[in-house]
Amino acid sequence: MKPVAIIGGGITGLTAAFYLKQNHIPAVVLEAAERVGGVIQTIRRNGYLAEYGPNSILETSPVIANLVRDLGLEGRRLYSEPRAEKRYIVRDKKAHAVPGSAVDFLRTPLFSMSAKMRLLAEPFIRSGAEDLEESIAQFVERRLGREFLDYAIDPLVAGIYAGNPRRLSVPQAFPKLHKLEQRYHSLILGQVLGARERKRSGEVSKQSAKKFSFDNGLQVLIDGLQANLGEAIETDAHIDVLRREGDGWLVELEKGWDVRQIECSAVLLAVPSHKIAALKIPGITPEEMEPLRQVHYPPVASVVLGFRRADVAHPLDGFGMLIPEKENLSILGALFSSSLFPKRAPEGEVTITCYLGGARAPELPTQSPEALVKLVVQDLAAVLGIRGQPTFQHVAVYRKAIPQYNVGYGKIRSVMNDMETKAPGLFVAGQARDGVSLGDSIISGHNVGGRIQNFLAAHDPKAAQLETVAA
Ligand SMILES: Cc1cc2nc3c(=O)[nH]c(=O)nc-3n(C[C@H](O)[C@H](O)[C@H](O)COP(=O)(O)OP(=O)(O)OC[C@H]3O[C@@H](n4cnc5c(N)ncnc54)[C@H](O)[C@@H]3O)c2cc1C
Repeated sequence: MKPVAIIGGGITGLTAAFYLKQNHIPAVVLEAAERVGGVIQTIRRNGYLAEYGPNSILETSPVIANLVRDLGLEGRRLYSEPRAEKRYIVRDKKAHAVPGSAVDFLRTPLFSMSAKMRLLAEPFIRSGAEDLEESIAQFVERRLGREFLDYAIDPLVAGIYAGNPRRLSVPQAFPKLHKLEQRYHSLILGQVLGARERKRSGEVSKQSAKKFSFDNGLQVLIDGLQANLGEAIETDAHIDVLRREGDGWLVELEKGWDVRQIECSAVLLAVPSHKIAALKIPGITPEEMEPLRQVHYPPVASVVLGFRRADVAHPLDGFGMLIPEKENLSILGALFSSSLFPKRAPEGEVTITCYLGGARAPELPTQSPEALVKLVVQDLAAVLGIRGQPTFQHVAVYRKAIPQYNVGYGKIRSVMNDMETKAPGLFVAGQARDGVSLGDSIISGHNVGGRIQNFLAAHDPKAAQLETVAA
């Protein structure tokens, strides 16, 4: 049986390969970089642990827990410390805890009394039309009021998408909010009533899902997948050209000066959308893929700093803090990494991870690492009362970090759907299509594995013994 070629060895591609292997379908992961993992990478230095990009995974679906179990990594998984549940939002340069109950909500200085009263009106506000595509800013202003947009949703959007709330689309980027409004005519009522449905499906809302990493950071997951897949992974393998060969495919593999062709039964594209648009694919013109090149991926810098505990006035008793744009700070937010997971800093020290840039300030990540550290130290001094200089620093910059599901993104998804229809055996998965979080990518890799299995069962006579699985 010819292998399935998986282009891109990030978490999506690796999860898909793992799924196929579990179902006895050969696959080869072709990764352009010298290592797999994509934006997931961890280093440990001088007793500190720093993540280059993502820090934790939300366990929103049993698919995620099953991957960890099937890789034999349950013993190394660390759920975030219960005391790190608290989240802060900054207002007037002070970190305020996000209220966890109705009483806390009434007491919090994060929102004015008029904003609180405005929220009570939410269940009585009429739903928008089903086909209305609003930005998240328009939607929240309409349902919850301006202050809630500025001091709750704007910072949240910065934390998830590093995006612009005036451009991100509700049905595309926050489909669950869109459905809540359509189904229950109220977000508040929908939160309460929707809980029963989620319980039935085993899904967990992002607000209540458990967060986890591993004893040695998220790299453990990548190492586990790599060890399992072994020789099915080829690194330094840049793919530019796909060809058709009978019912199957030929993937042209460039490795330095060496160019080889691999015959395969199907091809999965698990790469960012602009990388898909750069491929030569038979039957699909560059013009058809042009919208994929246009997707906005703003840059993000991740700055991990260590400090002596005694130099930080704030108790760091939580997950981290998010920063509204109105606060005019450089950072989008900060994670209190050593409060979230143990052994992220030596005894008596703490680690804080900050993100800068995004759609809010795309010019910032172009600055030098030293300048970025300086900006972060200034912000942390203002909000968390940090006095000394960092005892540890690590800076990583992603020039194209996270795809923005802006108003009109449905067109991008249609292009990917059409590609699959026009070129049978070609599949597209990952961040640009199925959601921007790690959990979304794991689910995407798992689901596309099932779709490939079904395709092969229907089209490849040698794979006739393969079972068709529920999509
Ligand atoms: C700074 C940052 C922080 C984040 N924090 C979090 C977080 O805390 N929690 C969370 O849930 N999510 C987080 N995310 C999002 C999450 O990391 C991504 O959604 C996820 O890692 C995407 O995985 P992927 O496999 O789809 O893509 P990628 O990781 O981008 O992998 C794609 C791979 O394809 C390879 N490739 C590209 N072109 C080619 C080609 N032509 N041939 C061969 N290979 C190619 C690339 O080298 C890369 O390895 C963060 C993202 C960033 C950037």
